[in-house]
Amino acid sequence: MTRFIFITGGVVSSLGKGLGAAALGAVLQARGFKLRLRKLDPYINVDPGTMSPYQHGEVYVTDDGAETDLDLGHYERFTGISTRQSDNVTTGRIYSDVIARERRGSYLGATIQVIPHITDAIKEFVLGDLNGEDFVLCEIGGTIGDIEGLPFIEAIRQLGNELGPERTMFMHVTLLPYIPAAGELKTKPTQHSVKELQGAGIQPDVLLCRADRPLPEGERRKIALFCNVRREAVIPALDVDTIYRVPITYHDAGLDEQVCRHFGLETQPPDLGRWHEVTERQTKPEGEVTIAVVGKYTGLRDAYKSLGEALTHGGIANHVRVNLDWIDSEIFEREDAVTYLDSVNGILVPGGFGERGSEGKIAAVQFARERRVPYFGICFGMQMAVVEAARHVAGINGAGSTEFGECAEPVVGLMTEWEHDGIVEHRSKDSDLGGTMRLGAYEAHLAHGSLVHEIYDQDVIHERHRHRYEVNPIYEDRLAKAGIVFSGKSPDGILPEVVEILDHPWFVGVQFHPELKSRPFAPHPLFTSFIRAAIDQARLV
Ligand code: GLN
Repeated sequence: MTRFIFITGGVVSSLGKGLGAAALGAVLQARGFKLRLRKLDPYINVDPGTMSPYQHGEVYVTDDGAETDLDLGHYERFTGISTRQSDNVTTGRIYSDVIARERRGSYLGATIQVIPHITDAIKEFVLGDLNGEDFVLCEIGGTIGDIEGLPFIEAIRQLGNELGPERTMFMHVTLLPYIPAAGELKTKPTQHSVKELQGAGIQPDVLLCRADRPLPEGERRKIALFCNVRREAVIPALDVDTIYRVPITYHDAGLDEQVCRHFGLETQPPDLGRWHEVTERQTKPEGEVTIAVVGKYTGLRDAYKSLGEALTHGGIANHVRVNLDWIDSEIFEREDAVTYLDSVNGILVPGGFGERGSEGKIAAVQFARERRVPYFGICFGMQMAVVEAARHVAGINGAGSTEFGECAEPVVGLMTEWEHDGIVEHRSKDSDLGGTMRLGAYEAHLAHGSLVHEIYDQDVIHERHRHRYEVNPIYEDRLAKAGIVFSGKSPDGILPEVVEILDHPWFVGVQFHPELKSRPFAPHPLFTSFIRAAIDQARLV
């Protein structure tokens, strides 16, 4: 029997609802339960793929090629369960499906309304594509009271009624702000947001209360009384030193016990050994390295969420703290890279789009290559690395990417045709922008004797992609003569997936996004190896 835990948020956004859902998932998993985590996003875009990272943070790509909310990244990192297209939906997708059905005549003449048609489509999504899970943890994006969220709140209210309390539970995440003048944590915003939820017909079973300091017993009782929740179900969720401690603190605060009590489930206490180990390693490093991340959206950490985590995982694997220096690449178009990069132990250029800042990224690559600093190029970072090496090592003057317009030597060009699971995909420069990139997990074959083969210790890998352009295979021979080799390729041997510079301590570019598959308890081998190279670099200087 699958049970559903619905997670809503109140008071303010950015309370860490996604992280909360992920951490609860981790603890329930440690109790031996099988689960899925899902996110319902009330915005009207069909998916976040066309949104600026400044609007919505990183776009998280699943194995099956969905462009999804970054919370799915937390879900995967905390539980190790691969998410899918069927784990994230938006208002835009729900409406476009309902409207498509209406156009087909599937509603047999009915007037299409929010209730029941939109709410039915939401319920169908929540209940669909399951496979014997004990739990589905379903997070509703936004904050209670948002207009866009109403159909979702209504849909989960209906599910609560239809499935009954034995199969549903409502968890509300709120904030207890500390007012210095009063010297108190305030409960009123929580009371109001619970009232709002109750007005929509939902009585929360558990309140997860975010606070920056311990919750006094009196305040806990007060919240319980005013919000109609048992005292034990008012769970304080205090700020912690590392996000990987959250499963431990939730368990200590009794969250999973409340879930088991609600559903009448008895299990052994969870084994949280691996979380203790990870946090121990992270908080007691034996050294440190500094990595410069040279990108365009460095003003917003969420834009590179998985990347930051994967670098941390590389540190965990090597027992070091990884300090990140986020540098806006445009700086290098005005100033000398040395000023900013002289003291770093590794340079990483992440995924990106568009011409702005690209010459700055190329300057960062040049610095890494010439000064023999470990370089890791991801997607756009690989493409810019190839442009740099083509121009300055292979002597291909005018080397560039057609992403920025016509160019004399298109060493990076638009991908117009590729194969996926036996189907040939076609694109042109006039294709829609939404959902049309090369997306999701693709197989790549690694060349024996290459650095990347040594790192993975595998001939065949599967990594997630999200790009429209590719390194142009026509230039392979000219680049190889200059020492820039394609050490990973698509199974048909056509698409370059990995490039390496042979005469360099660690210079790897990958067309895919390895950061999406890194986990705290299973750091991605490329990040482990990159951080190791940075440690070696630190020893040399
Ligand atoms: N803009 C490049 C492309 O579309 C790289 C994309 C990325 O870095 N994810 O190919």
